[in-house]
Amino acid sequence: MIDYTQLYDKLTTIIDKNNIKLNELLKNHTYTRLGGKADIFLTPSTYEEVQAVVKFAKQENMPFTLLGNGSNLIVKDGGIRGIVILLENFNNISVKGNQLTAQSGAAIIAASRYALKEHLSGLEFACGIPGTVGGALFMNAGAYGGEIKDVLDSAIVIDRDGEIVKRSASDLELSYRTSNIPEKGDIVLEAIFNLTPGNYEEIKAIMDDLTFKRESKQPLEYPSCGSVFKRPPGYFAGKLIQDSGLQGTRIGGAEVSTKHAGFIVNKDNATAEEYISLIKHVQKTVKEKFDVSLEREVKIIGEDL
Ligand SMILES: Cc1cc2nc3c(=O)[nH]c(=O)nc-3n(C[C@H](O)[C@H](O)[C@H](O)COP(=O)(O)OP(=O)(O)OC[C@H]3O[C@@H](n4cnc5c(N)ncnc54)[C@H](O)[C@@H]3O)c2cc1C
Repeated sequence: MIDYTQLYDKLTTIIDKNNIKLNELLKNHTYTRLGGKADIFLTPSTYEEVQAVVKFAKQENMPFTLLGNGSNLIVKDGGIRGIVILLENFNNISVKGNQLTAQSGAAIIAASRYALKEHLSGLEFACGIPGTVGGALFMNAGAYGGEIKDVLDSAIVIDRDGEIVKRSASDLELSYRTSNIPEKGDIVLEAIFNLTPGNYEEIKAIMDDLTFKRESKQPLEYPSCGSVFKRPPGYFAGKLIQDSGLQGTRIGGAEVSTKHAGFIVNKDNATAEEYISLIKHVQKTVKEKFDVSLEREVKIIGEDL
């Protein structure tokens, strides 16, 4: 049996007590509006605090989980045991020459807009991706022909021993919606992007066009985790789901979007269990109809109730 009062007291010696919460409901911190409670929920405000937490977790043999904006995650209804770390206090963005540096808790959309303000091109593709910079690196997020891999120079991370190190983009082994960040156990603190000088109006026109495409095709009025499935080789997940007649199918408060078949929306206070059941139903139906296995892009973490 874990003594949380004792753990709390120990944590207050390494991290400001205003940055520690117990039994925090995670659905209040995820874009999907899904997720039970985190035993210990930390929002560190210095890199030293993050380092100390990593070392503490190791010493106490306690798991920790990083949360970005929760836009590619389904946190189960039973929540997450151990420590959950949210890096929302690290949201600074700056530019030096053609390099843009963004802290991991900044929204990648904010980084994209900052680049526009500085007349720098390269992050237009990210103007509508609702994740953090840390989550975008982890997933090698991409859209409309661009991806993080194309523009990332390097990242500052805390490694699993709690040390701050610099990784080059190639060190991260970025490929389609993956990186080796989970394998290495890195926590991304900062990302440095190599951009190219451009014309403000031209960059803005591209971003406006991509925003229009997104708003007209995606059900942005509801919480969701974006495209639930990866693109299966030779097919489009959304088309297969649409052709399976699944749009509008509901389990509890979760629904296969009628606007974009690749999205499952949290239409009416869905539980994670309902959302996950609907994902499985879609996978099973598409497999039966087209003999194609849909692989999830979205991650499922945590415990059942
Ligand atoms: C409406 C909508 C549209 C979307 N469109 C796109 C799109 O066009 N392209 C695309 O690629 N994705 C898209 N997504 C998915 C999602 O926004 C991206 O994958 C995004 O990069 C996830 O970032 P996040 O901060 O929300 O990460 P989370 O979902 O919070 O976490 C994802 C993973 O990253 C890890 N992580 C988060 N921060 C860090 C960190 N600092 N260090 C180490 N690990 C970390 C987490 O532990 C977790 O394993 C969309 C989602 C929605 C809801």
